[in-house]
Amino acid sequence: MDGNKKAVLEAKIKRTIQALEKNGMPAQYAPTKEDAVKAVGQLLTPGDVISCGGSVTLRESGVRELMLSGQYDFLDREQQPPEEVYLKTFGADVFLTSANAITEAGELYNVDGRGNRTAALIYGPKKVVVVAGVNKIVRDLDAAIYRVKDIAAPPNAMRQGKGTPCGQLGRCAGCGGGMTAGCAHEERMCCHYVVTAYQRTKRIYVVLVGEELGY
Ligand code: SF4
Repeated sequence: MDGNKKAVLEAKIKRTIQALEKNGMPAQYAPTKEDAVKAVGQLLTPGDVISCGGSVTLRESGVRELMLSGQYDFLDREQQPPEEVYLKTFGADVFLTSANAITEAGELYNVDGRGNRTAALIYGPKKVVVVAGVNKIVRDLDAAIYRVKDIAAPPNAMRQGKGTPCGQLGRCAGCGGGMTAGCAHEERMCCHYVVTAYQRTKRIYVVLVGEELGY
């Protein structure tokens, strides 16, 4: 990356971290995926009961490997009945997830289909660790809405083989219709819209990674 682009990116990351901190969410910068795994490891304690939301970011960053390392009691929905894992997750020590977008004003924006991920983000597990690549940083909530509908959902639908309109058209069927506009498909991924604007007690921690991760 050329020096000017790097400086712009670093300024954006700095602004976002400061804004998250101001909103009560401790945030740190991890320049690489390897740094991110180390940072997450420092937020976990061996023996913790941990769980996670569905996330390409956790897989691409190497955090999922850490979760599978045997140091933790991992409630893995790929190995256990998902519905049981969703309920047990509320009593977990740590929930790991990414965010669909993080605004430069320090807000987390998440959109969920079933709601298990957004539910555990806002209530239940004692600690939540959000890992997000720099590609998730957006200027404001309007940009976050656009990001999910036009940038994240189409390739995500294709990856999962969903028959939703975004997976066919490469854009949301409800583009231009505001935050909640969307399709009426039985596999619709965008049903619950959660903005985390402020945290009163230290529970959610954010690790911003200086690489593109996830959708
Ligand atoms: S509302 Fe439907 S078409 Fe729009 S992004 Fe979500 S799943 Fe895709």
